[in-house]
Amino acid sequence: MTTTNGTIENGLPDKKMPMLPKPITNLEIQHNQIFINNEWHQSVSGRTFPVYNPATGEKICDVQEADKADVDKAVEAAKAAFQKGSPWRRLDASGRGKLLHKLGDLLERNRVILATLETMDTGKPFLHAFLVDLEGCIRTLRYFAGWADKIQGKTIPVDESFLCYTVHEPVGVCGAITPWNFPLLMLIWKMAPALCCGNTLVIKPAEQTPLTSLYMGSLIKEAGFPPGVVNIVPGYGPTAGAAITHHPNIDKVAFTGSTEVGKLIKEAASASNLKRVTLELGGKNPCIIDQEQFDKVLEYIQSGKDEGAKLECGGSAVGERGFFIKPTVFSEVNDDMRIAREEIFGPVQSILKFKSLDDVIKRANNSQYGLTAAVFTENLDKALSVASALQSGTVWINCYNALHAQTPFGGFKMSGNGRELGEYALTEYTEVKTVTIKLSQKKL
Ligand code: ADP
Repeated sequence: MTTTNGTIENGLPDKKMPMLPKPITNLEIQHNQIFINNEWHQSVSGRTFPVYNPATGEKICDVQEADKADVDKAVEAAKAAFQKGSPWRRLDASGRGKLLHKLGDLLERNRVILATLETMDTGKPFLHAFLVDLEGCIRTLRYFAGWADKIQGKTIPVDESFLCYTVHEPVGVCGAITPWNFPLLMLIWKMAPALCCGNTLVIKPAEQTPLTSLYMGSLIKEAGFPPGVVNIVPGYGPTAGAAITHHPNIDKVAFTGSTEVGKLIKEAASASNLKRVTLELGGKNPCIIDQEQFDKVLEYIQSGKDEGAKLECGGSAVGERGFFIKPTVFSEVNDDMRIAREEIFGPVQSILKFKSLDDVIKRANNSQYGLTAAVFTENLDKALSVASALQSGTVWINCYNALHAQTPFGGFKMSGNGRELGEYALTEYTEVKTVTIKLSQKKL
């Protein structure tokens, strides 16, 4: 998250920041179980799965592996917590706001622990996790804490003698399925608006990076959320993830991940109970990842070479440990090459030339994706007309990756459905109820 007045600018720490924290060495993993009803559980099957540090390739710990039976237990807990008359449903909206603020306080208190865990799990630099991911999480929690008691319907003038008003009610039990790259931030983007609106949650973190999501279980309990409001089921996509997307008692799924899995989620929703689905799909961001992704990125680099692009630098693995790939730049790339069309999810930059604005807009829009785009120019007219013409959920002008809790984020076309963050996110976590009252008194 790039802030204009905070601790980080263009992804780099503000040099004026007095003391930069350091990661904790030899951090002990405390939470590697399934979190249901504010308690820690072993998996029903007795199975576990290993979690690795991608920077070293070493195993961090084994985590209890949730499958359908565990998801069923979590959904039962979330459903009970959502029943009318439950402590969660009886809590005033301002009470929900207070709990979210308290959670924000706990994240601030445990920021170094969470950033250390995120670094171990994802391989990203500690200061990135501390300054970017955790800052974004805390700001998002505080932003939605403020919304909790401001979610209002309308009074609508209608024909004849009726009084008509709308109420925005929580959707119910929400599933959240998150990716490996920003594990905690993508979770908070879903959890904060879901809880702000009064829903309950069943969360499945990515199998590669579940540790910060699991740690959140202890903070959820400490903050004082009633049992069953937040449940966390670590496990694999085709098992635990699919159990969520097919579940008849889950009312909505919020997902961040690949377009292929996004399609499966919509299929599962329509094959089960037509649950609401929000999807945040394809983009193109450099990252360090696991063995499978490492092989995939090297395969893309090979395809760039085979298809005739010119390798300017990088193009191979680096280091003896971990899954690092050299920053790679290709020039002489054309629109049909796979490296230009597909999501690589690795540190591979393609340089494409253009002759005119019309040409570049047409080519930029000639993509199945439409998540983000950026234009760099001092010419305001040019900047605004390009922003208007691009088919993209976000357009950055003279900046990149400038995300804020207040502004909606999501994609056009196959980059997704719906929006996270900002006031728009609230509509994804509420149902609108229309109440119409027949008045006996005729209009005067
Ligand atoms: P990425 O390319 O970011 O790893 P994926 O779409 O493969 O994205 O994974 C994102 C999340 O989706 C992970 O939590 C993964 O376990 C989950 N997932 C993968 N397959 C399925 C599936 N069939 N049903 C539900 N969730 C899934």
